[in-house]
Amino acid sequence: MNLSLTLNDTPSLSGGITIKSPQELDSMRQAGQVVAETIAMLVRSVERGMRTKDLDVIASQHIARLGAKPSFKGYRGFPATICTSINEQIVHGIPGNRVIQDGDIVSMDVGAIVDGYHADSAVTVSVGNVTPAAQRLVTATRTSLEKGIRQARAGNRVGDISQAVQEYAESLGYGVVREYVGHGIGRALHEEPSVPNFGEPGKGHLLRTGMVIAIEPMLNIGGWGTRSLTDKWTVVTADGSLSAHFEHTVAIQEDGPEVLTAVQ
Ligand code: MG
Ligand code: MG
Repeated sequence: MNLSLTLNDTPSLSGGITIKSPQELDSMRQAGQVVAETIAMLVRSVERGMRTKDLDVIASQHIARLGAKPSFKGYRGFPATICTSINEQIVHGIPGNRVIQDGDIVSMDVGAIVDGYHADSAVTVSVGNVTPAAQRLVTATRTSLEKGIRQARAGNRVGDISQAVQEYAESLGYGVVREYVGHGIGRALHEEPSVPNFGEPGKGHLLRTGMVIAIEPMLNIGGWGTRSLTDKWTVVTADGSLSAHFEHTVAIQEDGPEVLTAVQ
């Protein structure tokens, strides 16, 4: 089961790439702000000694307070509002009784729906005294997302985003997760096109004004292989190495990328 798109999934139930109208983009902007504010609150809240389910409660209450709905709860049966993925966990960790420890890196992935439109974003936070290697991974993963976003321009292709992420990540020796990828987003959480974090420039779908995509690099200190835990959701690195994950929902505008899930 997967909350993100896997490489082999058919990304769309809605029949292809959608171009959003200005009104649709307004709704997505509102959903983006709900997600951005929720993530900001989670980042302020996370500390050692908390259980991951405490973060889920904070997020679900905040999303409800803002009049929105969570994207993930019930999606393909996912049981929680957010995903919390710690250390060697890459994505789709289920919030529960695990206690956050000093030195953990904690990925928090949040989706929200406003007026029927989704936004999707993730951050990885360093808790307390993390190792220099872990901090470098977190910083590099954030930077790789920024490099991908810069390529999210009308006239470019998906492969330009993919290659920008991959080239930067691999130049630092990190493994780029291949089995889970970014995606178009709108009325459905996962629409076409898939947005892999590896690929060739000039290849893949043409990016056009009005498209909205979620770009979400997942980088590992070790290799790119993954496996799923017996809870059927949590994805971990095959080699047990640390992994980090950042994501933004990005609208392609005439004058360049608009990050809908950045705090305004
Ligand atoms: Mg996503
Ligand atoms: Mg996400």
